[in-house]
Amino acid sequence: MHQNKKYPVTKTDEEWKASLTPDEYRVLRQKGTERPHTGEYNLHFEEGEYRCRACDTKLFESDSKFNSGCGWPSFDKSIEGTVEYLRDTSHGMIRTEILCANCGGHLGHVFDDGPTDTGQRYCVNSLSIDFKKE
Ligand SMILES: [Zn+2]
Repeated sequence: MHQNKKYPVTKTDEEWKASLTPDEYRVLRQKGTERPHTGEYNLHFEEGEYRCRACDTKLFESDSKFNSGCGWPSFDKSIEGTVEYLRDTSHGMIRTEILCANCGGHLGHVFDDGPTDTGQRYCVNSLSIDFKKE
């Protein structure tokens, strides 16, 4: 999350711990990463929408999802205005972190090597999102 930023959904660490599983907390609040090829939505291609697991904001539509082979759910675009972008220089790389704009929850990273028209590859942890059938 952005330091010192006030998100529409704001909770204390204790409140987040109480409302998320330990794995969800590690990814969403501590910017963790699930192991590749293990997430429940990696190869999940049903029609519907993907919402933030922490605050239920709709983030991605299933028609933007594609199989990138990278081991995490990948989308070529997000629903406008729902995702926040932050420069991330950790681990010796320059990447763009993506966060839920409503609660500051960590989603993953976005790369500009996508194979579709948008050129974008939103690489998202399954633990950060929740699928709802349309
Ligand atoms: Zn959220």
